[in-house]
Parts: sequence; structure tokens; C-alpha cells
Amino acid sequence: MRMLLIISSRKRLELPAKLFFLSFYENLRFIFRHSMRKIILVPSKMMKYLKRFIRRRKSMVEFEIKNKDLLARIGRLKTKSGTVETPAFLPVINMARQSVTPRELWEEFGCRILITNAYIIKKQQAEEASRLGIHSFLDFPGVVMTDSGAYQILAYGDIEVAPEEIIKFQEEIDTDIATILDLPTGWGVSKKRAEETVRETINRAKKLEEIKSRNDILWVGPIQGGRYLDLVAESAREMSRLPFDIHALGSPTPVMEQYLFDLLADMIFAAKMNVPFSRPFHLFGAGHPFMFALAVALGCDLFDSAAYNIFAQDDRYLTTYGTVRLEEIEYLPCSCPVCSKRDPQDLRGMPKNEREAELTRHNLHVCFAEIRRIKQAIIEGRLWEHLMIRAHGHPSILQAMKRLKDYGDFIERHSPIVKRSGLFIFSSIDLARPEVIRHRKRFRERYTPPEKMKILILFPSFGPRRTLKSRRYKKILADACERFHIDKDEVHVCFYVPPFGVVPIEICDVYPLSQFEIACPPDEETMKYVAQRIVEYVKKGRYERRVMVVESGTWQEEVARICKEDIKEELLEFLIV
Ligand SMILES: [Zn+2]
Repeated sequence: MRMLLIISSRKRLELPAKLFFLSFYENLRFIFRHSMRKIILVPSKMMKYLKRFIRRRKSMVEFEIKNKDLLARIGRLKTKSGTVETPAFLPVINMARQSVTPRELWEEFGCRILITNAYIIKKQQAEEASRLGIHSFLDFPGVVMTDSGAYQILAYGDIEVAPEEIIKFQEEIDTDIATILDLPTGWGVSKKRAEETVRETINRAKKLEEIKSRNDILWVGPIQGGRYLDLVAESAREMSRLPFDIHALGSPTPVMEQYLFDLLADMIFAAKMNVPFSRPFHLFGAGHPFMFALAVALGCDLFDSAAYNIFAQDDRYLTTYGTVRLEEIEYLPCSCPVCSKRDPQDLRGMPKNEREAELTRHNLHVCFAEIRRIKQAIIEGRLWEHLMIRAHGHPSILQAMKRLKDYGDFIERHSPIVKRSGLFIFSSIDLARPEVIRHRKRFRERYTPPEKMKILILFPSFGPRRTLKSRRYKKILADACERFHIDKDEVHVCFYVPPFGVVPIEICDVYPLSQFEIACPPDEETMKYVAQRIVEYVKKGRYERRVMVVESGTWQEEVARICKEDIKEELLEFLIV
């Protein structure tokens, strides 16, 4: 009997799922080999209906993922004007006031993708743009994405263009990535109004297939809902059922202007958790380079920003930790081509136009350099560490990072298991690291201690590998056996290791349980976490006796104290050394 096997990595069966046409027995073998989340067997008679269904739903986008870290990925997005590497920062081009031209961006900055506003072009230079095509119009040979005027709706209320017109216009000017005219939710609106914007955007999105006439343009499906996270999730679910190539989170500009990055993180998660992970994700109006690492870590593959230009117009100088006014700078903290040949005095003395152009260039250099740093961090598996550095550059990023623990399971599910580098542990924020969550989950669900071992001795982690051979370790073990009248062969050694919790000796060399460095003493919350893991394990284990070794005068005493609060005396004995 031939069966059709559908495997979906999502909770709900949602396409694109992988399809396998296999014999019944092959299917069984396949199921055993792959621990997929959802497997449905369907009689092959239904195949043709399913194929048709899939063709309709499946987006056309070619997006190949090369490296991953957290939810970030280095990918290759194929468009009709070339392939761009993600994560990519798209400078917003406003032809009315652009001190650095698209050509200069291409030649001097290595910029391969940018974004401009189709609505403004349509309003001001429609004929010329249609005649030349957007690439010649901008004089940019790379990939051009166009926005549709949603931002103008947000800023000025209604705009003078119909959703159909702007779809056709984007095809006419030969853009590579186009956006439907969504209705932005905006900020400070009632839930009722937010619902309306979500519904209207979905209605407009549904009409796209009838209106568009080309198949070589990638279409962006914006997700609305604003700060109402249930609406963002609903909007994302609805949009993901439509054949969009890219999804985008709409209208977070006010959120970003007010530095509400924790709310932004909530919004991004609400969207990301409800769209197919395989589709690229765009963040509209991402703003400032100090939050690029956060956006990328949360899975934004593309993001645009006009900040480099707008800030320069206002004599503001971007850095990866915030914005500085030019008048306040005595020393330029940057070595880009602009800053290495000038000092703040020179810049301040320049005519306005020239100064604006130079500041724009510096701001762009900061943005592109930060993207390169982020990509390198992804390759090295050190994006978390990079994010920690950025988080300690500005409290608003740190606040957003603290929010990550609420999404720990989701991040863990999508993060790579093995990395090239060890982990640096700084504080209790690291408890939300996917590696820490993964150890907790696997240890709880999959681990059973060896049966013959009746006695548990919990050692502190004073460096497992070195310790096992050290005289000190052997002496403590011998002392413990003598003092508690224990047979050494019955002892099961485990370590209590911040930030991981309990680590049995058999797995202490498994990545990353000994490939990490931590700043000791761990903070209060980390110690509490370790104590909780000890208590959890001791209560669950089937040992006859349990001894915890504590070095006096160290953080281990505090862990022992927290354990004592939570556990009966006879369940855990202490050996102070
Ligand atoms: Zn500079």
C-alpha cells in the first residue's frame, strides 16, 4: 500500500510541510528515524487534492539558511535582481533628501539591498520611475524593496492611492520586493480600532493574488495588531495562510522611538511564533544600530531604517550604544573613513549640507559595521554574548533581554545544539540561554541515574575535568566515604554547576556543560536556580543517601542555605570542607 506522509515541524499542520511518497513500511522506518513533531498518514488517493492545496499555499521564495544562532540566521535570499545575504540592513532612500546616493551606497558601502517608498515615488515622479524602472531611477544595481505608503497613512491619516493601484505601480517600476498597502495599527489606538486595521490588512492581502500580474516579485505580507499581542498573533496566523514570500512586522516605529524594546520583543515573538519559520521576516522601521543585535537575535532577517539620515539632518551622531549630539562630542569614538580624517571641530565648522552628508556617511558606517559584527557572532555561535554587550550599553536593550526568559522554550527549539565556541556566563539573564534551558529540559525528561549507585554525592563545580584527577577531589571523596560510612563503588558523583544546575559525572564533558566560563560568585538568582535544580533532582532521585559537598566561605554555602529551606533534613546531608 502506498501512503502519503506529511511531516510538519509546526504544531498545527501548516504548509509548506515536507511531503514524502513512500510505501507503508518505508513510512514506518522514516517515522522512527525522524522525531518530527507532526506526522500524518494520508491514503495516496488524496494526493492530487493535497498537491493542489500545497501549490496554492506555498510561497515562491528561495531562502537558504546557512548559519543559525538563537533565532538569527545567515541566509541567502534570492530575488530577480540578485541574491542578498541576510541579516540585511536596508537603508531607507528618500530621494527628496538624500545626502548619500544609492550609487555611493552600492560602491562605497557594499550595500546590496535598499528600500524606498513606492507611494512617494508614485506621487512625485510616477512617469519617470515607470519609464526607467526603479533600478535606473535610483541608479542602484542591487536589490530594491519598496514600501507602499503605510507609514504615510500613519503619519498623515488617509493617503490618495488605492491598494490596487500601488500593487500595480510596484510591478510597473519593476521592484524586487514589494509591499501591499496595509493599514497600520499605530500607537495609542483602541483595541477595536486595532482589530479593524488587522481585518482590513488581511482583506487587502487576500486580494493580492487577483491583482498582481507578475510572478518574479517577492511580496511582503505585513502583520498588524500593534501592542495588542493577541491581535498580532491572529494577524500573523491569517497572513501565513496566504502565499506571501516575506512577512513583516508593521508599524513598530513609535515603539522604537520610545525605546520600548521589551514590548517590541513581545510583538516580534507574537508574530514569529505564528508564521512559517522558513519565510524571511522583515522589521519595518528598525531605527537604531544599538538594537540591530536584538532584532536579529529575535529572528528578523531584514530591517530598514531611516535613522542614519534623519539623525544626521539633526546633527546627531550614531554609536552602537546610543546617539550623541555633535555639539557634545570632544573625541570621535569611531575609526570609519569620516571619523579617521576629521575631528568634531572640523565637522561642526562645515556648511550644513556637507556636515549632514559626512554625518550620514558615519552613521551608515556604524550600521553596516554592526551588521558585520552580528554576522560574525552568528558564525561563531556568540550572538548571545554580543547581545549581552549591547544590552549593557543601554538599559532599554537590557530590559528587552530580561523578557527573553518568557520565550525560552521557543528560542531553545530553534537554536543550534552544538556550537564552535564555549559560553560566557555573566549573570542570571544567562539562565534564559537556550543551552541552559535545553539542559534543564533534557535532564528532567531523559536522564535516569545508574541503578547500582545508591549514594549521591553532589560536588560543586570546581572545574570537573581537572577536579576528577586532582588530589583535592579524591581526598574529599575519600573523606565523605569515611565520614558517612559509604562504599565508594556505590557513589554516584554529580556536580552542581551554575548556571546549568545538576550535571552527572557521565555527561559532564558533553557540550556545553564544561565548555563555559562564569563570573563567580554567581548572582543571587543564579544560585537560587541551581538550588532549585538540586532540590528537584534530590526529591525525584531514588538514592538511599544524598550528600552535598560545600566549600566553606564560598557561594556554595548560599546555595546550600537555599536548598535547606526547601528540603527535609534527612533528604540531603551536607559536608562542609
Ligand atoms: Zn565614524
